[in-house]
Amino acid sequence: MILDPQRFAVFQGQDCLIPPQLAEVLHSKVVDGALLSTIEPELISWPASGIPLALFGDSPLGYSYSAFTFQNVLYGAVLLGDGEEGFIKAAGLEHAVHFPVRALASDFSSQLGRFALLAKAHAHWTEVSRFCGACGGRLVDANGNEDFREPLDEHAHGARFCPRCRRTFFPRMSPAVIVLVRKGNAILLEHNVRFPGNRHSLIAGFVEIGETLEEAAVREIREEAGIEVKNLRYLRSQPWPFPDSLMLGFLAEWESGDARPDGREIDHLDWYTADTLPELPMKGSIARFIIDTFVGGGFSAP
Ligand SMILES: [Zn+2]
Repeated sequence: MILDPQRFAVFQGQDCLIPPQLAEVLHSKVVDGALLSTIEPELISWPASGIPLALFGDSPLGYSYSAFTFQNVLYGAVLLGDGEEGFIKAAGLEHAVHFPVRALASDFSSQLGRFALLAKAHAHWTEVSRFCGACGGRLVDANGNEDFREPLDEHAHGARFCPRCRRTFFPRMSPAVIVLVRKGNAILLEHNVRFPGNRHSLIAGFVEIGETLEEAAVREIREEAGIEVKNLRYLRSQPWPFPDSLMLGFLAEWESGDARPDGREIDHLDWYTADTLPELPMKGSIARFIIDTFVGGGFSAP
């Protein structure tokens, strides 16, 4: 490892390990996602001084981290597997509290939420970028590596390099479109077979290789709901590192067809108005943000 982070963000599974003194404060603020913006992102991380660098690289424990900069502080993100206690013991994190990353991100626009999603994305990347997918060689950090000749942005800390076959790997994201389809004053919400209870959300799906975002949006709506749309327009995006999505939000208008579920992925869908909404996705997700914006009158009627 070439970079020396000032602080570390440590994750285990879908949880962030946070200092115990902060856990109580966070629990009191996480109710309905409000007030989290008052927490400094740095507080959910750990000073590097307490984490032996010998834990990383070629040591017997051999952990790795992905470095990133946030508000001018260099962080390392670490992802531990379940039951992987060696790191926790060596780094003195036995009293750390497990806090769900999704709860930390429940304020869509807060710095704390941005930090939690960014750190989680890097933590995932370090887990899946250990070996070269082409030749199986062990990857190293590209930035600052003397064999790596391409100029890299100095913040491209996530880039990996294979010294054996000289390939470069940049952090991977899986783009997915998510679309609010409107028909008059109603919106189309669907229940995915994986969703708990009566939770309904917007139509969403991964972009396929060789496809534009717009094509993906139209295809997903056609496949999942059997309808055609018009006036597709981009709204905004959100990194969603569970494990590596980049969500791209769109707005579209119904054009033709009767909405019906595909019966495989989607077992129920319907048109809902602002006062007949079913159970919605969690706050902090772009789905909820777009639905809340609609309910608040944020998208002008056609
Ligand atoms: Zn290779």
